Amino acid sequence: MKSGNKKKMDVKRPKCPRCGVDMHVHQYLPETKAVIDIVEGHPKYIRYRPVRFMCPKCFKTLVVHPDDIIPRIKISEKVLNWAFKEVERRSLVKVCEEIGIAPTTLIRYIERRGVKVKRRRHHYTRRRKIT
Ligand SMILES: [Zn+2]
Repeated sequence: MKSGNKKKMDVKRPKCPRCGVDMHVHQYLPETKAVIDIVEGHPKYIRYRPVRFMCPKCFKTLVVHPDDIIPRIKISEKVLNWAFKEVERRSLVKVCEEIGIAPTTLIRYIERRGVKVKRRRHHYTRRRKIT
């Protein structure tokens, strides 16, 4: 099932972090796709072209991705939070496969955000209440 969205994403024109002036569109980078949402357990992709902006004063460049897409891992904040929740109850490797990121990458984000990953439940020894 395909669920692509080829529309150009609206990106906000950034201000130069050095000069504070509005940056200009410099170039559109090749189309890429990212997981923007999880719908009924399936990843929903968007296709877009990241935009490289340039400062007219100091010529600094900056690449902007739409909305809350995390550039390095090409998933949205929302999907990352979904993954944090999913790994609490099922295999981390499977979750990563679904959203197309490396398990080590997800673990790095998990550690950085201080999310706790639960170990498998059947390793617990349950205490029985004696009545
Ligand atoms: Zn500048």
